[in-house]
Amino acid sequence: MGSAYRTIPALSDNDLVRFHSKYTMLWPGGCWEWHTGKTTCGYGRFVLNNQSFRANRCAYFVFTGTDPGPLQVQHTCNNRLCVCPLHLTLGTHKQNSEYMVLCGRQGSVVKPEAVIRRGEDNGQAKLTRAQVLKILDIRASGKLTLLQIAEQFGVSQSLIFMITKGQKWEEVFNEFNSRPHLEGGHT
Ligand SMILES: [Zn+2]
Repeated sequence: MGSAYRTIPALSDNDLVRFHSKYTMLWPGGCWEWHTGKTTCGYGRFVLNNQSFRANRCAYFVFTGTDPGPLQVQHTCNNRLCVCPLHLTLGTHKQNSEYMVLCGRQGSVVKPEAVIRRGEDNGQAKLTRAQVLKILDIRASGKLTLLQIAEQFGVSQSLIFMITKGQKWEEVFNEFNSRPHLEGGHT
């Protein structure tokens, strides 16, 4: 097989909202299954700038901020439609097929603890409560895009998106929305 791959372009805020509307969390902690376009190989398909990408590769990019490049984005859950960041890991073709053999032989999917830990590190551990409040403040002001905020705080665009929707740091989100809003952001 050729190893041609396309560099995934930066997602606009609209692209990101579109991305997050295309999967369903099957159950808490379970797969996030792509429910729209599929590739002929049975992977989720996401169109960016009129080019077609595998949804799992886009998911890796969206959630980690890193383009997988020449590496395979593997599913530890064996569900090709899954875009849950905790079920995605990078590897080579060789490792991928070895993993498939391993999964097939065992008959069930092993939860790779290392992957799960990495996922948590990607999340709220990187930010402090004060930073999250600042992020909500900046977003409410409408001055910066999600990507610009992500770059400023050194986290993924997707994390910023989830924070602004109250899907991460929910208690800080609720606190922010229940307090009187300060114009101009003076402290
Ligand atoms: Zn999965």
